[in-house]
Amino acid sequence: MMKSSARISKSGSNTKTRSPGFKKKEQSGFFAQNDPGKPFFGPATLQPKLEIGQQDEPHESETLKSPRLKNNKRFQAVFENKSVIEYGDQGPEVRRIQQMLIDLGYSLPEYGADGIFGPETEQTVVNFQADHPPLIIDGRVGFATIRVIDDYFPSFEITADLSEAWTIGCVLEIMCPWNSHIIENILPGFTIYMFDDFEIPQKEWTGSGWVDNPMHPRAYHWPAMNEIGFRSDLSCNEAAIGFYHEAWHAQQPPRITHVTLDREVDAFIQTEQWSIDIGIAGQVNESSNSDVKSIRSENNGQTEVDEELTRQHVSQRYGGASEIPGETIHSKTEDKNKLRVRRADGTFYERYPIEGEIVPFFDEIEFTEKNELDIGDWTCD
Ligand SMILES: [Zn+2]
Repeated sequence: MMKSSARISKSGSNTKTRSPGFKKKEQSGFFAQNDPGKPFFGPATLQPKLEIGQQDEPHESETLKSPRLKNNKRFQAVFENKSVIEYGDQGPEVRRIQQMLIDLGYSLPEYGADGIFGPETEQTVVNFQADHPPLIIDGRVGFATIRVIDDYFPSFEITADLSEAWTIGCVLEIMCPWNSHIIENILPGFTIYMFDDFEIPQKEWTGSGWVDNPMHPRAYHWPAMNEIGFRSDLSCNEAAIGFYHEAWHAQQPPRITHVTLDREVDAFIQTEQWSIDIGIAGQVNESSNSDVKSIRSENNGQTEVDEELTRQHVSQRYGGASEIPGETIHSKTEDKNKLRVRRADGTFYERYPIEGEIVPFFDEIEFTEKNELDIGDWTCD
């Protein structure tokens, strides 16, 4: 189904993704438009709340097929035309829809996948619908729209050994079915490196003094240098996760990237959700360099990303993550017990550290064996 080579270009963007393979019968009448001459969006609309009254409503016996959507009651209700996800909604389902739109190459340039269905998300749904005629262009995720999204993320088998050392081939096998946008549109915008190791020197304030708490990243995204890099000794599972995580960083809006804690929590949450959906091991395990050994939890038989554990993990591991919301710890000051801190608005001030806060020393990083990877011929075709 995903072998279709049809290409679409999106308004306001030069990115491309695959078109889902439509069945002809799904188009007849199913997407009947109430007023085909008037595209519109916005909460002030005369459209009925649900997409009710059209000729071919979905059958209740049908279910969503994608691992990213099925087994979720809200998504299934949307699929059965009993609910709609729209302007004003909030929560994990909104965030997951936002994530899937971003994975398809639709940007949310100011707010990202924040779980709030505001004007930006509504406009993005409008753009998605406009690219997928004959969907009704109303900025709401109803049964017809969720069916198109469902087709983009089919379940698939991974044949590569996930525990083996990574190769480009095994990573592409994991990424291409859902994330050709990352491989073909995001990564080529960066110089990609493979490295053996590097250390970010970090010092943690214990409450009475500083102790070393260095970090050895598995992957990195360095916007100032336009670089993304991956450790050479990762497993295929770890490398795929690193690709998604770093590519996610590359698509985050400035309001998130400016705050270390927010930036990492967002990337960890989205990457962990993706790894759950795809069925591979997550980012945090027994060997994690924090008290947190997993950022997943079980709820009613469903595996979910645990946001509180994610926050704990990031704040214990990442230099720069401040205990005060919106702040980023920049450096130590001349007074060795004070911090130079950046507020959310970009201004700086100095204050004493809070127990557990970590200062990074980015200008002291030294790589071992850092080699550029030629991704010129990476493709998902
Ligand atoms: Zn990160």
